Amino acid sequence: MTNAMLEVKEIESFYDKSQALFGMSFSVRQGEFCTLIGRNGMGKTTTVKSIMGLLNPARGQVLFEGKPLHKLPPYQVARFGLGLVPEGRQIFTNLTVRENLTATARDAGGSDSKWTLERIFQLFPSLERRAKNLGSNLSGGEQQMLAIGRALMTNPRLLILDEATEGLAPLVRKEIWDCLAELKRMGQTVIVIDKNIASLLRLADNHHIVEKGKVVWSGSSASLKAQPELLERYVGV
Ligand code: ATP
Repeated sequence: MTNAMLEVKEIESFYDKSQALFGMSFSVRQGEFCTLIGRNGMGKTTTVKSIMGLLNPARGQVLFEGKPLHKLPPYQVARFGLGLVPEGRQIFTNLTVRENLTATARDAGGSDSKWTLERIFQLFPSLERRAKNLGSNLSGGEQQMLAIGRALMTNPRLLILDEATEGLAPLVRKEIWDCLAELKRMGQTVIVIDKNIASLLRLADNHHIVEKGKVVWSGSSASLKAQPELLERYVGV
């Protein structure tokens, strides 16, 4: 695809000698909201790590607007405008909410939507109420909102969320999905990994099904809804 923002091309990634990705390929257009779905252990998080420079693939390419990322360390990848909300909501527990948000604030460049503290507080009013609280004093849901807020404060051109609703109560989960819907409305380019397939089908433009370290099917929400056997076979729902 020529007009892709992100192209993951035939990457193979390893943990020591153990291979986790076997020719992983997919691409993401600007403004697209897409997902990686599949059973546990199929390579979704490894793909995210390989994009973000946390694990450099042994073979293949990761291109962002045509520029190679696959040999760069994470801080250089982030400078291109890639933001990650990692699995397990990693925030600074010894900093306040406000400090967490301002510590990582950065303009990765080129984004029309400039995120500020005020705009994050509009998106997540409960964070404003807790602005002076330490990260360690937040509920799981608030920590997740803070993790998303932190990533947005870098003004990412591409935002990747890995299991952002995992382990949260239904009401808080809904708040996170509402936030993602708002980001989509704003034209933010997003890759989401999540187990809530119904929400993903409602929100996402496209899906990539991951099985044994590679994409085995890609298509739109409408196309995936029309083929429930795919979800049954590869996701187990
Ligand atoms: P999950 O939803 O369980 O995180 P996933 O699709 O994200 O699943 P990965 O975490 O990418 O899957 O795992 C892909 C493969 O790599 C699995 O076989 C897993 O056991 C292996 N793996 C993941 N992390 C490591 C690690 N740090 N060291 C060694 N092997 C790992």
